[in-house]
Amino acid sequence: MKLLVNFSKGKKNAPIIAQVVKETGVLISVERAVIDSSEGEALIEVPDNQCKLVRSSMTRHGASVRLLEHGINVNTSECVDCGACISICPREVFSFDTDWKLAIAEDRCIVCGKCVPACPHSALTLPL
Ligand code: SF4
Ligand code: SF4
Repeated sequence: MKLLVNFSKGKKNAPIIAQVVKETGVLISVERAVIDSSEGEALIEVPDNQCKLVRSSMTRHGASVRLLEHGINVNTSECVDCGACISICPREVFSFDTDWKLAIAEDRCIVCGKCVPACPHSALTLPL
């Protein structure tokens, strides 16, 4: 399962993900992270059956955690299958099917948002 984690680094500057891995023993895969001197946001992947454990440990360490059940959303009534989103996505979420219609591998999406402004028909939105 994918979890979106937001955290403040605080005075101790403690590495929250490393702490949670150590505390829970769960191997966490970091799919995307943006961290500056004071705060950070990370998209992590954890096994389904250990999601609750990781989530509560993260929360105990002061992070806010949101379960991401969906990736990018495509409004199919607006999409014209132009393909502009295909090359811009770093995770190869988009492709053409055999009929040259847009195909989406939503589970590959890391919610980076790069494709959203690239769509000339505003057909792409990030999950709330
Ligand atoms: S949000 Fe990022 S990873 Fe997801 S489909 Fe768009 S470009 Fe690809
Ligand atoms: S850029 Fe927009 S209109 Fe073009 S294929 Fe992608 S979602 Fe469809």
